[in-house]
Amino acid sequence: MFWIKRERRKFNSAGKAKSTIPEGSWKKCPTCNQIIFSEEIQRNLMVCPKCEHHFRINATERMELIVDEGTFVESYAELETDDPLNFKDIKKYKDRLKKLKEEKNKYSAIIVGEGKINNRRAKLGFFEFSFMGGSMGSVVGEKIASIVEDAIEDSIGVVIFSSSGGARMQEGIFSLMQMAKTSAALSKLKKCGLPFISVLTDPTTGGVTASFAMLGDIIVAEPCALICFAGPRVIEQTIRQTLPDGFQRAEYLLEHGMIDMIVHRNKLKETISKLLNMLKN
Ligand SMILES: [Zn+2]
Repeated sequence: MFWIKRERRKFNSAGKAKSTIPEGSWKKCPTCNQIIFSEEIQRNLMVCPKCEHHFRINATERMELIVDEGTFVESYAELETDDPLNFKDIKKYKDRLKKLKEEKNKYSAIIVGEGKINNRRAKLGFFEFSFMGGSMGSVVGEKIASIVEDAIEDSIGVVIFSSSGGARMQEGIFSLMQMAKTSAALSKLKKCGLPFISVLTDPTTGGVTASFAMLGDIIVAEPCALICFAGPRVIEQTIRQTLPDGFQRAEYLLEHGMIDMIVHRNKLKETISKLLNMLKN
C-alpha cells in the first residue's frame, strides 16, 4: 500500500514537465548561482540575500530608493532625442527611438530633476540603462549640464547615479561633445563651491566614465560594479593577455585609488545625505 500520495506531473506538448510556479517567480543569482524567490530579492532592495550580489535596477527603482517620498520633481522631461546624422546601422536610429517611446514609454536614457534626500535638497540624475544602454547622447548631456546650471542658481549640490555603456554611437561627434559639455558645467559648479557626488553603478563605462562620472568630489560605487573605459573583453583581445581577477570592478578600483568608497545599496541613501551635509557650503 502506498502511503505517500504522488501527484501526477503535468507535461506540455514538448514532453517537458509543466511548472506550477508562475514564470519570473525565481531568479538565479549570477554570482552564487543560487535560485532565489524573486520577492525575497525585491524585499532586499534587489540584492542577493545569499551573497550580496547587487542586481541592476532601473531609474525609477533607484529614485524610490534614494529620494524622500513625494519630493522628486522632474525637469527637462520634454527634451527628446533627435537624429542629427540620419543614422542607420541594422536599424534606423529613428526607429529604435520610436520603438522605445511607443512600446516602453521611455524617452531618454536619464531622468533629471530635484528632490530631497533625508530632507536635504539636491539636483539629481538617474540613468536608465534599458534606454539604449544608458548611452550619453546630446539630450543626456544637455539634461546633465542643465541641472548643474540649475544647482548653481539654487546654490545646492548635484548627485548623479550613472549606469551607462558610454557615448551614443548613433550621434557620433555630437555624443562625444557631451563629455566636454558636462565636464565644463561641473567645473563651474566647483568654482561656486558646490558639491557633486557621483554614484557609479553596474555598469559605468566609456565616455561617461571618461567625463563627468569621474569628476565627483566624492566618487561612490556599488559593490562589484563594472567601472571602466574600454571593457575587459576589448582589452584582453587587444593586449592578448588574461586580466587579473576582479579587474575593473569597484573593489579593484578602490584598492587602486580611482574611487572613494563602496557602499552597499541599503546604506546608499544614508551615506549620500551624510556626504551632502558634510560638503555643504
Ligand atoms: Zn548570490
